[in-house]
Amino acid sequence: MIIMKTGATQEQIDNVVREIAKYGFRGDVSHGEYKTIIGLVGDERKAPFEHFAALPGVKEAIPVETPYKLISREYTKLFKGPSEDKQIKVGKVTFGGSKPVYIAGPCAVESHDQLFRIAEGCKNAGAHVLRGGIFKPRSSVHSFQGLGGKDLKKAEEALIWLHDAGKQFEMPVVTEVRGENQVDLIAEYADILQIGARNMYDQDLLTAVGRKKKPVLFKRHFGAGVEEFLSFAEYIAAESNKNIILCERGIIPMGKGKNYTRYTLDLGSVPAIKKETYLPVIVDPSHAMGRSDLIFNMSCASIAAGAVGLMIEVHYDPAEALVDGAQAILPQDLEKVIKACNNIHEIVSPKKNKK
Ligand code: PEP
Ligand code: MN
Repeated sequence: MIIMKTGATQEQIDNVVREIAKYGFRGDVSHGEYKTIIGLVGDERKAPFEHFAALPGVKEAIPVETPYKLISREYTKLFKGPSEDKQIKVGKVTFGGSKPVYIAGPCAVESHDQLFRIAEGCKNAGAHVLRGGIFKPRSSVHSFQGLGGKDLKKAEEALIWLHDAGKQFEMPVVTEVRGENQVDLIAEYADILQIGARNMYDQDLLTAVGRKKKPVLFKRHFGAGVEEFLSFAEYIAAESNKNIILCERGIIPMGKGKNYTRYTLDLGSVPAIKKETYLPVIVDPSHAMGRSDLIFNMSCASIAAGAVGLMIEVHYDPAEALVDGAQAILPQDLEKVIKACNNIHEIVSPKKNKK
């Protein structure tokens, strides 16, 4: 990473970026109040740091060989001083702001009426962002793949519904992107692009989504360690897109016999991740639990653990849901979750604790 002198000119910064490009690196330029730093994207072991340090306007050029640095607190500390949590604004909604953000909606968009009815219920319950899967990552090829599963024309129709429901109920919308060929289309209609747990490792998809410069909801793979999760988030950040909302959604449970929950919600990872990165962290208790009767408690626990938001699946008739009905809660139960979580947030939020 290259730290520029205080007052370095734009010309000097551009020159450094050009010079590092000659050696096969890309420069991630971050401007602080007084200082600018340039992160090298690439294998730093081959970088001529002495040469970079001698360029006009450069204060220091130092190697940082961690798997993630652009999203680390260490990195921002260098140019911002004690680093603050990042706020990500999507329309009128702020992730990492003074209140938790609630993302809610159906697991899958099933029809125009289903989506609008659930969207209205979520809005009335106090949700801020509308979710709805159109390309569903199903385990069985014989299961309903989402309306976008078969052809992109159908997908576009469903995306228009999602977009329109978001407009009507004043909620930004998020939907999952499962392949590079879907990125352009989905980015036209969605406010936030979701990378599902199963695609956490797809570097090319992460790069393509990162390039869209739209906020990304990035879910942890159920087999990924925290360091791995953050290392793959760095692929998005390396495209100069730091609008990444990290999402813990449960990891593979251990032991023989029935586990009673679909996954193990790794709540300890929430405060641990927040020590490492300035990015906002949310929790999806729905996919972690797989049971609607456990959502209330685990939502409360997630906010107590420091999550800045939740993603919850909602359906007016869970028994009729085409996907994940067992974990969907009713809109009136979402309202109870939101009220309780807002109270818990009041108690645990750093602002409150500072007083
Ligand atoms: C989803 O949120 O729709 C989803 C499929 O979740 P995950 O990728 O966490 O399994
Ligand atoms: Mn689901």
